Amino acid sequence: MSKYWSPIVKKLDPYVPGEQPRVGNLIKLNTNENPYGPSPRSLREMARQVNDSLRLYPDPNSDMVKDAVAEYFAIKPEQVFVGNGSDEVLAHAFLALFRQDKPLLVPDISYSFYPVYCNLYEIESVQIPLRENFEIDLLDYRQDNGGILFANPNAPTGRYLALEKIEELLKFNTDSVVAVDEAYIDFGGESAVSLLGKYDNLLVIQTLSKSRCLAGLRVGFAMGHEELIEGLDRVKNSFNSYPLDRLATVGAASAIRDREYLETTTKRVIASRTRLVEQLGELGFEILPSRANFVFARYPGRDAAQLSMMLRQRKILVRHFRQPRIEQFLRISVGTEEECEELIRTLSEILEE
Ligand SMILES: *Cc1c(COP(=O)(O)O)cnc(C)c1O
Repeated sequence: MSKYWSPIVKKLDPYVPGEQPRVGNLIKLNTNENPYGPSPRSLREMARQVNDSLRLYPDPNSDMVKDAVAEYFAIKPEQVFVGNGSDEVLAHAFLALFRQDKPLLVPDISYSFYPVYCNLYEIESVQIPLRENFEIDLLDYRQDNGGILFANPNAPTGRYLALEKIEELLKFNTDSVVAVDEAYIDFGGESAVSLLGKYDNLLVIQTLSKSRCLAGLRVGFAMGHEELIEGLDRVKNSFNSYPLDRLATVGAASAIRDREYLETTTKRVIASRTRLVEQLGELGFEILPSRANFVFARYPGRDAAQLSMMLRQRKILVRHFRQPRIEQFLRISVGTEEECEELIRTLSEILEE
């Protein structure tokens, strides 16, 4: 703590991302990256873009990306907002679309960046408890609010909420923005984008970090009514006019256009997830149903923090959250087939000891 810090900085409680180790011989199943690597087409386009044009600023509106997103989802480019990772898109949504004078409703167990943004932007929140089975029940969100935000599938539980439930909430909740963070939607869920035409207070946020294997490129986007997008643009243009650099712009647009590659890699992840769930179950783990590229599991009678540490000693990283209700769970990203096999082998050794 420095006396030179502003009062705002003194009261911040920053997000702590999962470990990114410097050594290379670890099996990384802790931050939900996709093991298959970016679309080769996207990599080629980016390599071509490494040239003299980098002396010029990029397109501040990332129109190339907006066009690709609009075409993919059959919406208008004016309904798309693009940012430096969906974390930045979320941050702008907090400032632009959630009210400062009424509480934001969020699940008690969800993406741990949400409370960090609440703190940063001085937005009060009400944490709505997940049901006993870790499901979000949107009936619990029918109360006065300045915005509603949840992830679908939820993180770190992986549980998925059907579109009908979201539409029921939208029918009821018309005076504030309902934001759905769909970071994991491509791994087996149905996007709420199809509801955009009917509800002008719906914002759908997605990222290229998970299903499109581009966490290192930092690209996320939001889709909603043009006026919501305009609100986000007002914040963006008061903060950083160029959130996407030239390489990210080209790489993101071509990754979004490469539908086939997305389908192939997500199918592989889903197949590995199915097998991983089976094998963890055989070992004696209890696993929540997952529609994401990770599973959330606990082993009755074994301490999760200790299991996580023992895995780390054996060069496998998984994520453990020291948080009430979920402290006995491990969040395990779905790796390649080989990585999952290695995890299962190592876990069975640990459990036999
Ligand atoms: C990974 C993740 C994000 C962040 O994605 P980036 O685009 O990499 O910033 C946002 N929301 C949830 C729920 C996530 O799991």
